Parts: sequence; structure tokens; C-alpha cells
Amino acid sequence: MYFSEKVLVIRTGRFKEYDLWVRFLSPSRGILTGFAFGGCRSRKRFSGCLDALNLVLFKVSSGKGNRYLVLEEGSLIHGYPELKKDSSRLGMAINSLRFVQQICPEGDDSSGIYSLLLDYLETMETNSGIPSFFPLLFRARAAFSHGYQPSLDACCRCRAPLHGIAQPGFLFTEGKIICGECRQNNDRVIKTYPESLIFLKTLNTSSPGQWARWTPDSTVLQDCFQIVESFVQFHLESNPPGEKYQ
Ligand SMILES: [Zn+2]
Repeated sequence: MYFSEKVLVIRTGRFKEYDLWVRFLSPSRGILTGFAFGGCRSRKRFSGCLDALNLVLFKVSSGKGNRYLVLEEGSLIHGYPELKKDSSRLGMAINSLRFVQQICPEGDDSSGIYSLLLDYLETMETNSGIPSFFPLLFRARAAFSHGYQPSLDACCRCRAPLHGIAQPGFLFTEGKIICGECRQNNDRVIKTYPESLIFLKTLNTSSPGQWARWTPDSTVLQDCFQIVESFVQFHLESNPPGEKYQ
């Protein structure tokens, strides 16, 4: 196997004296790990590109018996220098990379999450005043676009539309909304404000560049946090990555 792709470096670590392992997000193959033999001292083949949060064009081949990937050479496309200088933005970016690793295993179609992540990092690179709710919106949007898509249009039982629904709740085991009248005692529901569900629906078709101008209410953000965390955790536990919720 041989391929050349622009990938985002997620983590690196040293093994042996001059060699590195590099975990990266590929636009088409999910998260992969490759080995950069001599990576610690080869300026010619890997000039300044073997660090987390670098967008790098890698040439990748298979090692002996196709058992591992070898990074032949890399060139730095973007290093997000402004983001890295600011500990607050850097912390948000690292938090979001961890989440991507949780939900996007090797071999997954990662084109959606890859372009969202690059857009998110570019927005953080070019805006100094990134609000603290940014990682939450990223988690929601990334989960939704990566196989954990909830159904937010109407009550899943009586079909009452989201706009005007009475006492809505979110059934996090099913990823559906339900109105107060249809709710049963054994339903695993997070009660929410209608505005919070409308916000999540808007979020689902938005881009990080737009989020920088949003000023959501704190109760809406609290609802969103509960919904997204319960929904994603439940499905990650019951359907490990690779057997995603449909
Ligand atoms: Zn209903």
C-alpha cells in the first residue's frame, strides 16, 4: 500500500532513540498510526512537521508484511501558530482532538469529521476571542455528522412538530424527541426547553465560522451539554466504534 494525503497529526511519541510513532486523522481512513523511522533527526524528510496539531502532507507506505504503516516523508501545510500560542484555545483544541479519537476509529469514513475539524481549527486560529462553549458545539456537531445523528423534527410517537411541542424531552437511548403527553414512566428522557432542541437542530447545519458570532443562553447550553453527553456516551458504550448507531 502507498498513499499520499493531507492529514492532521493528533499525537506523537518516541520509541527507540530517533524513531517516532505518529497518530493522525486521515480524510478517508479514520485515525491511523504510522512510524517515522529516524523522525527525530531527519530534517530533510520531516522538517518541523511531527507535532500534534499540524496539518501535514505525508507519503505513507506499508511496512513488512503490511503489518504497519511507514511515514516516508512529510511536509508541513499548516501549524496553527496563533492557536498554539494561546493556552485557552490550545486546551479547547486538544479536548476536541480527544473526542475525535473516541468516536472515529481506524478505517472509518472520516471525510465529514476531518473537514469539520479543519474548519474548527481554522476558526480558532483566526479568532482570538473564542467563547468557552466552542468545544461543546464541536462535540455535538462532530457526533451528529459521524453516525450519531439524532432525529429532532417531531415527537417520535404523535409526530407533533418540534416548533410548538409541549414539554419536550430527548430520549437519549433512541436519539429522538418526545412530547410530555407521549412520555411513559420507563422512557429514559432528558427534559429540555424547546429552544434547546431548536438550537441543536440549527447547530446541525451550521459551521464553526458561524458559532464565533453566536451568544446562546446558558440554560440552552446546559441542556445541550446533557443531551450530547448522554446520547454519545450511551451509544459509545452500547455500540463500540465500528458498530455505530444508525
Ligand atoms: Zn407526542
